[in-house]
Amino acid sequence: MAVDKLVIKNIGLILSGDIDKPIFEGDCMVAIDGKISSWGNAKDLDTEDATITVDAHGVTLAPGLIDSHIHPVVGDYTPRQQQLNWIDSTLHGGVTTMISAGEVHMPGRPKDVVGLKALAIASQRWYENFRPSGMKVHAGAPVIEHGMVEEDFKELANSGVKLLGEVGLGTVKDGKTAKQMVDWARKYGMQSTIHTGGPSIPGSGLIDADMVMETGTDVIGHINGGHSALPDDQIICLCESCKSAFEIVHNGNERAGILVVNTARELGKLDQVILGTDGPAGSGVQPLGILRMVAMLSSLGNVPAEIAFCFANGNTSRQRELDTGIIEAGKCADFVLMDQAQHAPGKSILESVQLGNLPGVGMTIIDGKVTSTRSRNTPPADRLPEVI
Ligand SMILES: [Zn+2]
Repeated sequence: MAVDKLVIKNIGLILSGDIDKPIFEGDCMVAIDGKISSWGNAKDLDTEDATITVDAHGVTLAPGLIDSHIHPVVGDYTPRQQQLNWIDSTLHGGVTTMISAGEVHMPGRPKDVVGLKALAIASQRWYENFRPSGMKVHAGAPVIEHGMVEEDFKELANSGVKLLGEVGLGTVKDGKTAKQMVDWARKYGMQSTIHTGGPSIPGSGLIDADMVMETGTDVIGHINGGHSALPDDQIICLCESCKSAFEIVHNGNERAGILVVNTARELGKLDQVILGTDGPAGSGVQPLGILRMVAMLSSLGNVPAEIAFCFANGNTSRQRELDTGIIEAGKCADFVLMDQAQHAPGKSILESVQLGNLPGVGMTIIDGKVTSTRSRNTPPADRLPEVI
């Protein structure tokens, strides 16, 4: 049977997503049937019989970026900010995978147990069946409510639901009940996250460090607040005490985000840092949110750019147990090709990002297929990859 073979030649720099070795040698990437097969110097690789060949023209290749925290509802529409095509716009920001923290913006969202399970299962299905502009959206993230029993989590898991929405957005606001439900979810293979910090909108509540630690979710959702951050001593305490992912979001407190990075660095825990936008949220849809977080944390948090990119792909891949976000044989061929923006200071893309500038996205690729070319949202880059 014929295979789909993608060959990307003339890559200037390969970012790996692996925080222990963020830069790989080579100028060429080969993917077979949507999975990474080999990379390195073109002369050492089998590049014959490609079905798609991309000439990178010297730009940088990285694993597609991952937004660990979004609130999708249906298709490529968000009622929260009444916007169409926000997911397509995010693809143009280099993101190829998005993870739901709850479909909480659904108008009339059901809060009874049968209704919330139905919404979660339906959301998981409609994003599995429909990828807006090719984007992988992991959705179906129920928000826990009082009255749920172990059997509900078993049923959700058996129905294909793999995530919990942010703990704290529903009626469960006490650590004891939340921990019980998170434990049930984990028992059936579902990942969990929590709304950390002050209330986001009228009606939501405060989740402090004690509640986060007692609940014990897999991800400390927006550890820098969404919007309001916890006091510094509580954030530091979470970084010191927790083995879970430290999720920093665009919709949170930027100073608190830098505090997290500085604390994680001192503790040798930078591999726990992951990024999200929390979009669409009160501060809007953020198509370049993940790139902006990378540039912000790299520049103000003194993180080499190649490490800051790992917060946005490889770290999230590991923490979220995904088959994308890292250069590894057998992982999904999901890539972003980008270059230093025109007239951005710095001698290289990495230096310009570390000076706080966004790169220009030239192409995204998902499962070995080109999903977008020159970004309509990032600043234009010096060089552009092309399909030949
Ligand atoms: Zn939240």
